This record gives sequence, C-alpha cells and structure tokens, in this order.
Amino acid sequence: MESVLSIKDLNVVFSGFKALSGVSLDVYDGEIVTIIGPNGAGKSTLLDAIVSKSPVFSGHIYYQGKDITNNSPHDIARMGIGRKFQNPNVYNELSVFDNILLALKGTHGIWASITAKLTKEKKGKIFDVLSRTGLVDQAFELVSSLSHGQKQWVEIAMVLAQDPSIVLLDEPTAGMTADETYMTGEIIKSISKSHSVVVIEHDMEFVKQIAERIVVLHQGQVLAEGSVEEVQSNPKVIEVYLGH
Ligand code: ADP
Ligand code: MG
Repeated sequence: MESVLSIKDLNVVFSGFKALSGVSLDVYDGEIVTIIGPNGAGKSTLLDAIVSKSPVFSGHIYYQGKDITNNSPHDIARMGIGRKFQNPNVYNELSVFDNILLALKGTHGIWASITAKLTKEKKGKIFDVLSRTGLVDQAFELVSSLSHGQKQWVEIAMVLAQDPSIVLLDEPTAGMTADETYMTGEIIKSISKSHSVVVIEHDMEFVKQIAERIVVLHQGQVLAEGSVEEVQSNPKVIEVYLGH
C-alpha cells in the first residue's frame, strides 16, 4: 500500500540538542496513527517538522510520494497537510460559522473573506465540516460562548475546511471533560473515514478508543510501534512508563 506520509530517518536538532534522532514512520490512507510518549519525547517536534515549523537537520519527509522536506509551511498546508496546534487558535469574537469561513481554502485574511461572496457552495462546505465536528447547533454562536472542548472542535473544523488529506492533531483532548474527550474520539474516527489522521495523546483510555496503530516516542526516537496490546506489553515501553 502507498503511504500518504513517509518519514525517513528524520533528525531535528535545536542548538546541539537532538530532539529527534533517526525517526522513520509511514502513515497510510485512512489510517489513525496515535503517537504517545513521555513529556519532552519529541512528539510535538515531529508534527512541527512535518509542517516545517521546526527545521529538519537531516532525513526526508515524503507526502504522496513527493519530497516536502523543509518546504514552506504555506506550501505544505496547501498541498493537503492540516495541523491543529496544542492551544486553540480561534477568533473568540466571531461566530463559529465565520471562523470556518475564514479557514476555507482560498480565503486570504479577514477582509477578503468578509467581502468575498458567500456562495451556496461555501455555505454547504461550512455546514459539512460543522456536522462532522458536532457543531451545527452552535453555528451562529460566538466562539467566546463555547466550552473549551467545543473550541477545540472549532479548530478541528477549521483544519477540515482546508481540505487536507492528512490531519495532524496535537493533544486534541487537553483540558476536556470526560464526555468531550469521548466525543472527540468519535469525531476523529469519523474523520478517518475520509482522511489519514495522526494524533498525539496522553490519555490511554482515549488512545484505546481511537487507536489503530500506536507509535511510542522516547528521547527523540521510536521506542515501539504496534497495536494497543502490543505496545502495552512491550518491556521497553513498560520500563519507560513505570521503570526508573
Ligand atoms: P513533547 O511534545 O513530546 O512533549 P517536544 O517535541 O515539545 O516534546 O520537545 C522535545 C524536546 O525538544 C524537549 O526537550 C524540548 O524542550 C525541546 N524543544 C522543542 N522545541 C524546541 C525549540 N524550538 N527550541 C529548543 N528546544 C526545543
Ligand atoms: Mg507536545
């Protein structure tokens, strides 16, 4: 099977500190890959490197067979890699609908999106991503009135509005209630029917809910890879999480 994203022997170095050493990883079509690992393992750095937010020292990142290593973040987003960061980055004083409108592909800045004609097609697209993220009823509410969890979903909806083929999510359930966390898992599973998804996550219950394949990072390296059961029974993983 052709991989959507293929990372080969990736090294990221911050002033002499090796944040990622020799990381290789493939993500296939419609798959959910969950990345776990202790704080500082290099999880966010890996997503940063994919979208060129962190410079790659050596190694390669291929997207749909094309080498995109150190391409500009803008080009990478345009090619179809959507990234949600750890903290919600939304416009609180705009409605949910307008936030998604701003995120639509081909819209450049607030002014352009306000003055551009709101076509039927755009409206349909906005409601499509809102229904995938459980936000249809909140479409015309201000983002400031939403719960923390709902704001995270607005951000996921904004990523989907850019028509990515792969979605990268960094700790999407951070700060969520148990119900919101569960709902986020269901949203991610539904997104994976039409997209590949890479999720960084801490909460093992959540990982079990969504996981197909887990990659464990530790000190910038891939420590283990496999199903929930395989990873949980791996002696190296047990040592990292329970040992010392
Ligand atoms: P994780 O997301 O797994 O908790 P990170 O990828 O954020 O870990 O960080 C991995 C390591 O790289 C940490 O030691 C962190 O301090 C370091 N690091 C991350 N980003 C930078 C940066 N921009 N400059 C210097 N060091 C960084
Ligand atoms: Mg992180």
